[in-house]
Amino acid sequence: MTTDQQRVAVVTGAARGIGAGVARRLAADGMAVAVLDLDESACAPVVEEIAAAGGRALAVGADVSDEEQVAAAVERIVDELGPPTVLVNNAGIIRDNLIFRMSVADWDSVMAVHLRGAFLMTRACQAHMTAERHGRIVNLSSTSAQGNRGQVNYSAAKAGMQGFTKTLAIELGKFGVTANAIAPGFIETEMTAETAERIGISFEDLKAQASAAAAVARTGVPADIAHAASFFASEGAGFTTGQVLYVAGGPCD
Ligand code: NAP
Repeated sequence: MTTDQQRVAVVTGAARGIGAGVARRLAADGMAVAVLDLDESACAPVVEEIAAAGGRALAVGADVSDEEQVAAAVERIVDELGPPTVLVNNAGIIRDNLIFRMSVADWDSVMAVHLRGAFLMTRACQAHMTAERHGRIVNLSSTSAQGNRGQVNYSAAKAGMQGFTKTLAIELGKFGVTANAIAPGFIETEMTAETAERIGISFEDLKAQASAAAAVARTGVPADIAHAASFFASEGAGFTTGQVLYVAGGPCD
Protein backbone atom coordinates (compact mmCIF):
# COMPACT_ATOMS: atom_id res chain seq x y z
CA MET A 1 0.00 0.00 0.00
CA THR A 2 1.11 3.59 -0.55
CA THR A 3 1.66 5.80 2.46
CA ASP A 4 -1.84 7.22 2.24
CA GLN A 5 -3.24 3.67 1.89
CA GLN A 6 -4.66 4.38 -1.55
CA ARG A 7 -4.15 1.85 -4.33
CA VAL A 8 -2.73 3.21 -7.57
CA ALA A 9 -4.28 2.01 -10.84
CA VAL A 10 -3.11 2.53 -14.42
CA VAL A 11 -5.66 2.36 -17.20
CA THR A 12 -4.35 2.48 -20.77
CA GLY A 13 -6.35 3.94 -23.65
CA ALA A 14 -8.33 5.79 -20.99
CA ALA A 15 -9.04 9.10 -22.75
CA ARG A 16 -12.33 7.73 -24.07
CA GLY A 17 -14.57 4.71 -24.46
CA ILE A 18 -14.18 1.67 -22.24
CA GLY A 19 -10.89 2.89 -20.75
CA ALA A 20 -12.45 6.18 -19.63
CA GLY A 21 -15.34 4.24 -18.06
CA VAL A 22 -12.93 1.94 -16.21
CA ALA A 23 -10.81 4.89 -15.01
CA ARG A 24 -13.89 6.68 -13.61
CA ARG A 25 -15.08 3.50 -11.91
CA LEU A 26 -11.73 2.63 -10.28
CA ALA A 27 -11.48 6.23 -9.02
CA ALA A 28 -14.99 5.92 -7.58
CA ASP A 29 -13.82 2.68 -5.93
CA GLY A 30 -11.19 4.77 -4.11
CA MET A 31 -8.08 4.29 -6.24
CA ALA A 32 -5.72 6.96 -7.53
CA VAL A 33 -5.84 6.53 -11.30
CA ALA A 34 -3.28 7.18 -14.02
CA VAL A 35 -5.32 7.97 -17.13
CA LEU A 36 -2.91 6.96 -19.88
CA ASP A 37 -3.42 7.49 -23.60
CA LEU A 38 -1.43 8.46 -26.69
CA ASP A 39 -2.20 12.15 -26.26
CA GLU A 40 -1.83 13.50 -22.72
CA SER A 41 -4.12 16.48 -23.36
CA ALA A 42 -6.91 14.13 -24.49
CA CYS A 43 -6.86 12.61 -20.97
CA ALA A 44 -7.63 15.95 -19.29
CA PRO A 45 -11.46 15.73 -19.40
CA VAL A 46 -11.45 12.30 -17.68
CA VAL A 47 -8.93 13.51 -15.08
CA GLU A 48 -11.01 16.64 -14.41
CA GLU A 49 -14.19 14.59 -14.08
CA ILE A 50 -12.51 12.30 -11.54
CA ALA A 51 -11.16 15.28 -9.59
CA ALA A 52 -14.57 16.98 -9.64
CA ALA A 53 -16.06 13.84 -8.09
CA GLY A 54 -13.45 14.03 -5.29
CA GLY A 55 -10.99 11.50 -6.73
CA ARG A 56 -7.30 11.60 -7.61
CA ALA A 57 -6.09 11.16 -11.18
CA LEU A 58 -3.11 11.93 -13.39
CA ALA A 59 -3.03 12.40 -17.17
CA VAL A 60 -0.17 10.49 -18.78
CA GLY A 61 0.71 10.58 -22.48
CA ALA A 62 2.42 7.45 -23.84
CA ASP A 63 2.33 5.01 -26.71
CA VAL A 64 2.00 1.61 -25.02
CA SER A 65 3.89 -0.05 -27.88
CA ASP A 66 7.01 2.09 -27.28
CA GLU A 67 9.38 0.62 -24.69
CA GLU A 68 10.99 3.93 -23.69
CA GLN A 69 7.70 5.79 -23.43
CA VAL A 70 6.25 3.01 -21.27
CA ALA A 71 9.25 3.06 -18.93
CA ALA A 72 9.06 6.86 -18.61
CA ALA A 73 5.29 6.79 -18.05
CA VAL A 74 5.47 4.18 -15.28
CA GLU A 75 8.35 6.05 -13.62
CA ARG A 76 6.26 9.23 -13.63
CA ILE A 77 3.24 7.40 -12.20
CA VAL A 78 5.39 6.02 -9.37
CA ASP A 79 6.74 9.54 -8.62
CA GLU A 80 3.41 11.36 -8.79
CA LEU A 81 0.87 8.81 -7.55
CA GLY A 82 2.83 5.90 -6.05
CA PRO A 83 3.64 2.34 -7.12
CA PRO A 84 0.93 0.97 -9.43
CA THR A 85 -0.64 -2.25 -8.18
CA VAL A 86 -3.61 -2.28 -10.55
CA LEU A 87 -3.12 -2.32 -14.32
CA VAL A 88 -5.86 -2.39 -16.94
CA ASN A 89 -4.45 -3.11 -20.41
CA ASN A 90 -7.23 -1.55 -22.45
CA ALA A 91 -5.53 0.48 -25.23
CA GLY A 92 -6.57 -0.88 -28.58
CA ILE A 93 -7.02 -0.22 -32.27
CA ILE A 94 -8.73 -1.95 -35.17
CA ARG A 95 -7.37 -2.19 -38.70
CA ASP A 96 -10.02 -4.48 -40.19
CA ASN A 97 -9.83 -6.11 -43.59
CA LEU A 98 -10.33 -9.49 -45.18
CA ILE A 99 -7.12 -11.53 -45.18
CA PHE A 100 -6.46 -11.09 -48.91
CA ARG A 101 -6.61 -7.30 -48.55
CA MET A 102 -4.83 -6.99 -45.18
CA SER A 103 -1.49 -5.20 -45.28
CA VAL A 104 1.52 -6.16 -43.19
CA ALA A 105 1.27 -2.70 -41.59
CA ASP A 106 -2.33 -3.41 -40.50
CA TRP A 107 -1.26 -6.75 -39.01
CA ASP A 108 1.78 -5.28 -37.24
CA SER A 109 0.07 -2.21 -35.79
CA VAL A 110 -2.72 -4.28 -34.21
CA MET A 111 -0.20 -6.71 -32.71
CA ALA A 112 1.94 -3.79 -31.50
CA VAL A 113 -0.80 -1.98 -29.59
CA HIS A 114 -2.65 -4.96 -28.11
CA LEU A 115 0.06 -7.55 -27.47
CA ARG A 116 3.37 -5.67 -27.37
CA GLY A 117 1.61 -2.84 -25.50
CA ALA A 118 0.15 -5.15 -22.86
CA PHE A 119 3.50 -6.92 -22.52
CA LEU A 120 5.48 -3.68 -22.05
CA MET A 121 2.99 -2.15 -19.60
CA THR A 122 2.72 -5.36 -17.59
CA ARG A 123 6.47 -5.92 -17.45
CA ALA A 124 6.98 -2.38 -16.19
CA CYS A 125 4.17 -2.54 -13.58
CA GLN A 126 4.67 -6.09 -12.28
CA ALA A 127 7.95 -5.07 -10.64
CA HIS A 128 5.97 -2.75 -8.35
CA MET A 129 3.23 -5.32 -7.80
CA THR A 130 5.61 -8.09 -6.76
CA ALA A 131 7.49 -5.66 -4.48
CA GLU A 132 4.17 -4.70 -2.84
CA ARG A 133 3.05 -8.36 -2.74
CA HIS A 134 -0.24 -7.24 -4.31
CA GLY A 135 -1.34 -6.78 -7.88
CA ARG A 136 -4.39 -6.90 -10.11
CA ILE A 137 -3.88 -7.11 -13.88
CA VAL A 138 -6.96 -6.86 -16.11
CA ASN A 139 -6.56 -7.38 -19.84
CA LEU A 140 -9.11 -6.49 -22.50
CA SER A 141 -9.81 -9.40 -24.82
CA SER A 142 -12.94 -9.57 -27.02
CA THR A 143 -15.61 -11.95 -28.29
CA SER A 144 -13.66 -11.54 -31.56
CA ALA A 145 -11.08 -13.90 -30.03
CA GLN A 146 -13.47 -16.64 -31.16
CA GLY A 147 -13.21 -15.44 -34.77
CA ASN A 148 -14.77 -12.54 -36.62
CA ARG A 149 -14.89 -11.85 -40.35
CA GLY A 150 -12.55 -9.03 -41.35
CA GLN A 151 -10.56 -9.17 -38.12
CA VAL A 152 -7.90 -11.82 -38.58
CA ASN A 153 -5.33 -9.50 -36.94
CA TYR A 154 -7.58 -8.31 -34.11
CA SER A 155 -9.01 -11.75 -33.31
CA ALA A 156 -5.49 -13.23 -33.17
CA ALA A 157 -4.39 -10.43 -30.84
CA LYS A 158 -7.45 -10.83 -28.59
CA ALA A 159 -6.99 -14.63 -28.42
CA GLY A 160 -3.35 -13.87 -27.62
CA MET A 161 -4.46 -11.68 -24.72
CA GLN A 162 -6.15 -14.72 -23.19
CA GLY A 163 -2.98 -16.85 -23.29
CA PHE A 164 -0.97 -13.88 -22.00
CA THR A 165 -3.40 -13.51 -19.09
CA LYS A 166 -3.31 -17.18 -18.10
CA THR A 167 0.49 -17.27 -18.12
CA LEU A 168 0.71 -14.09 -16.03
CA ALA A 169 -1.64 -15.73 -13.53
CA ILE A 170 0.67 -18.77 -13.31
CA GLU A 171 3.90 -16.77 -13.02
CA LEU A 172 2.77 -13.99 -10.67
CA GLY A 173 0.22 -15.70 -8.42
CA LYS A 174 2.65 -16.50 -5.64
CA PHE A 175 3.44 -12.79 -5.30
CA GLY A 176 -0.18 -11.90 -4.62
CA VAL A 177 -0.74 -10.76 -8.19
CA THR A 178 -3.82 -11.88 -10.14
CA ALA A 179 -4.39 -11.60 -13.90
CA ASN A 180 -7.77 -11.87 -15.58
CA ALA A 181 -9.24 -10.96 -18.94
CA ILE A 182 -12.53 -9.36 -19.88
CA ALA A 183 -13.89 -10.24 -23.31
CA PRO A 184 -16.58 -7.70 -24.21
CA GLY A 185 -19.20 -8.11 -26.86
CA PHE A 186 -20.59 -5.04 -28.66
CA ILE A 187 -19.92 -1.91 -26.60
CA GLU A 188 -20.98 1.54 -27.81
CA THR A 189 -17.74 3.45 -28.36
CA GLU A 190 -15.84 5.19 -31.14
CA MET A 191 -14.35 1.80 -32.04
CA THR A 192 -17.74 0.28 -32.88
CA ALA A 193 -18.77 3.54 -34.61
CA GLU A 194 -15.68 3.10 -36.79
CA THR A 195 -16.79 -0.47 -37.61
CA ALA A 196 -20.19 0.83 -38.77
CA GLU A 197 -18.42 3.30 -41.05
CA ARG A 198 -16.17 0.57 -42.48
CA ILE A 199 -19.03 -1.74 -43.34
CA GLY A 200 -21.08 1.14 -44.70
CA ILE A 201 -24.09 1.20 -42.36
CA SER A 202 -25.21 3.77 -39.81
CA PHE A 203 -24.12 3.35 -36.19
CA GLU A 204 -27.80 3.21 -35.21
CA ASP A 205 -28.38 0.27 -37.57
CA LEU A 206 -25.29 -1.56 -36.31
CA LYS A 207 -26.43 -1.06 -32.71
CA ALA A 208 -29.91 -2.37 -33.63
CA GLN A 209 -28.34 -5.50 -35.17
CA ALA A 210 -26.16 -6.05 -32.09
CA SER A 211 -29.14 -5.58 -29.74
CA ALA A 212 -31.19 -8.08 -31.72
CA ALA A 213 -28.41 -10.65 -31.43
CA ALA A 214 -27.87 -10.17 -27.67
CA ALA A 215 -29.75 -12.25 -25.10
CA VAL A 216 -30.27 -9.12 -22.99
CA ALA A 217 -31.68 -7.32 -26.07
CA ARG A 218 -29.40 -4.31 -25.81
CA THR A 219 -25.89 -3.20 -26.63
CA GLY A 220 -23.23 -2.75 -23.98
CA VAL A 221 -21.87 0.52 -22.62
CA PRO A 222 -18.46 1.24 -21.04
CA ALA A 223 -19.97 1.07 -17.54
CA ASP A 224 -20.83 -2.62 -18.15
CA ILE A 225 -17.13 -3.40 -18.65
CA ALA A 226 -16.06 -1.07 -15.83
CA HIS A 227 -18.23 -3.07 -13.43
CA ALA A 228 -16.39 -6.31 -14.30
CA ALA A 229 -13.00 -4.54 -14.11
CA SER A 230 -13.94 -3.19 -10.69
CA PHE A 231 -14.48 -6.75 -9.43
CA PHE A 232 -11.21 -8.10 -10.82
CA ALA A 233 -9.31 -5.08 -9.41
CA SER A 234 -10.85 -5.36 -5.96
CA GLU A 235 -9.02 -6.47 -2.81
CA GLY A 236 -11.37 -9.42 -2.37
CA ALA A 237 -10.70 -10.95 -5.80
CA GLY A 238 -7.36 -12.49 -4.79
CA PHE A 239 -8.46 -16.10 -5.45
CA THR A 240 -9.85 -15.29 -8.90
CA THR A 241 -7.09 -15.52 -11.46
CA GLY A 242 -6.39 -16.71 -15.00
CA GLN A 243 -10.03 -16.27 -15.94
CA VAL A 244 -11.63 -14.92 -19.09
CA LEU A 245 -14.97 -13.28 -18.40
CA TYR A 246 -17.20 -12.72 -21.43
CA VAL A 247 -19.25 -9.59 -20.84
CA ALA A 248 -21.34 -9.77 -23.95
CA GLY A 249 -25.02 -9.68 -23.02
CA GLY A 250 -25.37 -13.40 -23.59
CA PRO A 251 -23.59 -16.72 -23.23
CA CYS A 252 -20.16 -17.25 -24.85
CA ASP A 253 -17.86 -20.25 -24.52
P1 NAP B 1 -11.71 3.31 -28.45
O1 NAP B 1 -12.92 4.10 -28.15
O2 NAP B 1 -11.17 3.32 -29.83
O3 NAP B 1 -10.56 3.78 -27.42
C1 NAP B 1 -9.29 3.22 -27.47
C2 NAP B 1 -8.31 4.19 -26.84
O4 NAP B 1 -7.00 3.59 -26.91
C3 NAP B 1 -8.24 5.53 -27.60
O5 NAP B 1 -8.28 6.61 -26.69
C4 NAP B 1 -6.89 5.43 -28.31
O6 NAP B 1 -6.24 6.67 -28.50
C5 NAP B 1 -6.08 4.59 -27.32
N1 NAP B 1 -4.90 4.04 -27.95
C6 NAP B 1 -4.77 3.52 -29.21
N2 NAP B 1 -3.51 3.17 -29.44
C7 NAP B 1 -2.80 3.46 -28.33
C8 NAP B 1 -1.43 3.34 -27.97
N3 NAP B 1 -0.53 2.83 -28.82
N4 NAP B 1 -1.04 3.76 -26.75
C9 NAP B 1 -1.94 4.30 -25.89
N5 NAP B 1 -3.25 4.45 -26.17
C10 NAP B 1 -3.67 4.03 -27.38
O7 NAP B 1 -11.90 1.78 -28.07
P2 NAP B 1 -12.89 1.04 -27.03
O8 NAP B 1 -14.05 0.56 -27.78
O9 NAP B 1 -13.06 1.85 -25.80
O10 NAP B 1 -12.01 -0.27 -26.72
C11 NAP B 1 -11.18 -0.40 -25.58
C12 NAP B 1 -10.64 -1.81 -25.52
O11 NAP B 1 -11.71 -2.74 -25.47
C13 NAP B 1 -9.80 -2.19 -26.73
O12 NAP B 1 -8.74 -3.03 -26.33
C14 NAP B 1 -10.78 -2.96 -27.58
O13 NAP B 1 -10.13 -3.83 -28.46
C15 NAP B 1 -11.59 -3.67 -26.53
N6 NAP B 1 -12.91 -4.08 -26.97
C16 NAP B 1 -13.85 -3.18 -27.39
C17 NAP B 1 -15.11 -3.63 -27.80
C18 NAP B 1 -16.19 -2.68 -28.27
O14 NAP B 1 -17.25 -3.17 -28.70
N7 NAP B 1 -16.00 -1.38 -28.21
C19 NAP B 1 -15.40 -4.99 -27.77
C20 NAP B 1 -14.42 -5.89 -27.35
C21 NAP B 1 -13.18 -5.43 -26.93
P3 NAP B 1 -6.48 7.55 -29.84
O15 NAP B 1 -7.83 8.09 -29.70
O16 NAP B 1 -5.43 8.61 -29.76
O17 NAP B 1 -6.29 6.60 -30.98
